[in-house]
Amino acid sequence: LVELSRVNKHFGALHVLQDIDLTVRKGEVLVVIGPSGSGKSTLCRAINRLETIDDGTITVDGKTLPEEGKALAQLRAEVGMVFQSFNLFAHKTVLDNVTLGPRKVRGLSKKDAEEQARKLLDRVGVGNQAGKMPAQLSGGQQQRVAIARALAMQPKVMLFDEPTSALDPEMVNEVLDAMVALAQEGMTMIVVTHEMGFARKAADRVVFMADGQIVEEAAPEEFFTAPKSERARDFLSKIL
Ligand code: ATP
Ligand code: MG
Repeated sequence: LVELSRVNKHFGALHVLQDIDLTVRKGEVLVVIGPSGSGKSTLCRAINRLETIDDGTITVDGKTLPEEGKALAQLRAEVGMVFQSFNLFAHKTVLDNVTLGPRKVRGLSKKDAEEQARKLLDRVGVGNQAGKMPAQLSGGQQQRVAIARALAMQPKVMLFDEPTSALDPEMVNEVLDAMVALAQEGMTMIVVTHEMGFARKAADRVVFMADGQIVEEAAPEEFFTAPKSERARDFLSKIL
């Protein structure tokens, strides 16, 4: 469903993505882990075209994302993204946050968009917050609204870039639980996270990145118990 082939990206002299080849099948949950600065966020952003690439190809459902314009908005709608920092529209209610995209890009009526939004908000456990402003919610609630907002676009794949790393510990699980549920429903997901519990529960495959390269790829159990590379062992010894 998502296919990267020999993708390269530089920031000046820094080679942040080096010949990345990666395929994510429909329904697969891929966890990406690796040290700070290894290129995980850049990878996510490239898939969504928030970042350009120097060469190589990225396709989602067989289509290359266009550079700009309406076609980009349409295709980007197929790739939902949830970031580390809460990025809800601060001056809009929770309900508006979730209905805006579908109305604009998918052309849903206000009524249909709101009906869908309420279902999605219920599904991630924040159905009773629909009328509030983002600032009135906890971080965990905001992240779950962000998930609902991304799902409202009916994406084919969801990208998560460290969605729980800015949360207070007691809120991490409520967000991870929503993600596990989504994985169990068959959503194709690419998740940058160091939450091993999530990886063990939900991931089909773990990709370990370092210095812009995919160093290792394995099933979660295998990766966490018997990493093959020295770098992965070193990294795991620091986060475990
Ligand atoms: P973290 O775990 O800290 O989030 P990461 O693996 O997500 O790290 P990236 O954010 O992808 O890493 O960054 C990869 C490298 O590219 C880093 O060295 C970073 O400093 C650099 N970088 C990222 N964005 C830019 C930019 N817009 N301009 C210049 N350098 C950048
Ligand atoms: Mg990052």
